[in-house]
Amino acid sequence: METDPSESEAGFAGLGLRAELLRALTNLGYEEPTPIQQGAIPPLIEGHDLVGQAATGTGKTAAFALPLLQGLKPAGRDAGPSALVLVPTRELAEQVSQAVHRYGRDLGVRVLPVYGGQPIGRQLQVLNRGVDVVVGTPGRVLDHIERETLRLGDIRTVVLDEADEMLDMGFAEDIEAILAETPESRQTVLFSATMPPRIDGIARRHLRNPTRITMGRKAVEPGELPLVRQSAYVVARAHRAAALGRILDVETPTAAIVFCRTREEVDQVTETLNGRGYRAEALHGGMSQDQRDRVMGRLRGGSTELLVATDVAARGLDVEQLTHVINFNVPVAPEAYVHRIGRVGRAGREGSAITLAEPREQRMLKAIERLTGQRITLEKLPTVTDLRARRLEVTRTALQASLETDDLERFRVVLDSLTDEFDVEDVALAAVKLLHEAAGGDRDEDEIPTPSLPPEGRRAAARDNRAPGGKVARLFFGIGRRAGVRPQDLVGAIAGEAGLHSRDIGAIQITDRFSLVEVPEPAADRVIAAMQRATIRGRRPTVRRERFAR
Ligand code: AMP
Repeated sequence: METDPSESEAGFAGLGLRAELLRALTNLGYEEPTPIQQGAIPPLIEGHDLVGQAATGTGKTAAFALPLLQGLKPAGRDAGPSALVLVPTRELAEQVSQAVHRYGRDLGVRVLPVYGGQPIGRQLQVLNRGVDVVVGTPGRVLDHIERETLRLGDIRTVVLDEADEMLDMGFAEDIEAILAETPESRQTVLFSATMPPRIDGIARRHLRNPTRITMGRKAVEPGELPLVRQSAYVVARAHRAAALGRILDVETPTAAIVFCRTREEVDQVTETLNGRGYRAEALHGGMSQDQRDRVMGRLRGGSTELLVATDVAARGLDVEQLTHVINFNVPVAPEAYVHRIGRVGRAGREGSAITLAEPREQRMLKAIERLTGQRITLEKLPTVTDLRARRLEVTRTALQASLETDDLERFRVVLDSLTDEFDVEDVALAAVKLLHEAAGGDRDEDEIPTPSLPPEGRRAAARDNRAPGGKVARLFFGIGRRAGVRPQDLVGAIAGEAGLHSRDIGAIQITDRFSLVEVPEPAADRVIAAMQRATIRGRRPTVRRERFAR
């Protein structure tokens, strides 16, 4: 925590980013670049092509979006977009597009997400008015190119984001076709969580002398890591704050640090925890040294039990009493995880490191396990029943401690006066109830839903379904060869909209007027529902179970 905040802000400035972007980052509460940003931003600003190995959660979006915005020239009225980002799914198209919008706010950037399932009319209107950055799924982008509603002649940068996922979804040909429409002089950037040979092939064919960035990690020496219990909970973003509260209620730490990515998040989490009855304080790089020292003093003195901090603010911090390190999200780099958990379990004391991960971030957990050589156990969130039981246990422990250590004589008059009229046991029960309530033990709680399976999990689940005996459903798509449908259009739509992995899609049969596609039976209804949103080759075909199954 001895870092001067101005020093950390120099982190992004030192990468050569323009003032408007630095301002946006400060407003978002980013304190310092992540490793992938540190490695990728300078060469990208210089105009090099780049291949980056990075998964979701590493900060890869900003790593390509910031340089892209840095070089943006206000487009003339008739000019087409100057940057194109291709992504595998509509969800990612929306996320990346929002990120570009937020980073580029002060530059007045116009960004448009395009993906199947969204009314094409609205996309056309916006395209006609002019956009600087298009973020789209390959199928829909190709649709626009074919309709001549998207001209790529002015493109200066193309980004292939999550390239491995795009290939898995059968988008290889579409990507090739799209790249062929862009100027050869373009800058090409490829990000992928994994680097199978097919990705290398694309890089070799379409990138010129690219800078390569792998998050080269050397394994951590066993002695470098404290022996702490490491666990993780997978929870959707919307329920993360509730999940944190529940975990704290069950874990009852003596003193804990909750790590967040940004200052904004630090402030939100602090507020939530205080609302839940914790004594939580924020610690971030935007605070003066004096303020930070005071917060630390209160944690050491025990008048604060939770510190909510960014990495920068917590650097070098050493608190003896610390029992828990909690990661409100997976840290952007596995190395940061190692630094964070180094705050507990010092000098042989026991400690816990708990990480909340969004479904998509599970890959990052694996990367951390590889780095540390230690397992992170995936835990189920405590249910409302678990929580109630735990709170009763806390009340019981408090009573037991009081029985063992307190001088209770002065309360005897109360007891005596009541036992004339009531049974002693009933009096005790009433006292327990009041204590329990006073400690917030009967606060109302809602169940936190288990997230739908993440991509990896889904794959595994669907594969199981295809195991011998696994049932397959055949779906009818009311669109066929006459409408120009190719297998990859069907795979792309199903993978993109229903989140099924291409590997789990079985036989595809395309006739003149309709197509039949096999999917795992347990996923069939989900696929049908998702297809209500999907457009395939510009149409929205009927999708249902095949009526005359053979
Ligand atoms: P990504 O890997 O691009 O999906 O980003 C993961 C998350 O990290 C997003 O929520 C970003 O807002 C956040 N993030 C990206 N870069 C930084 C940074 N330098 N500091 C703090 N948070 C960041």
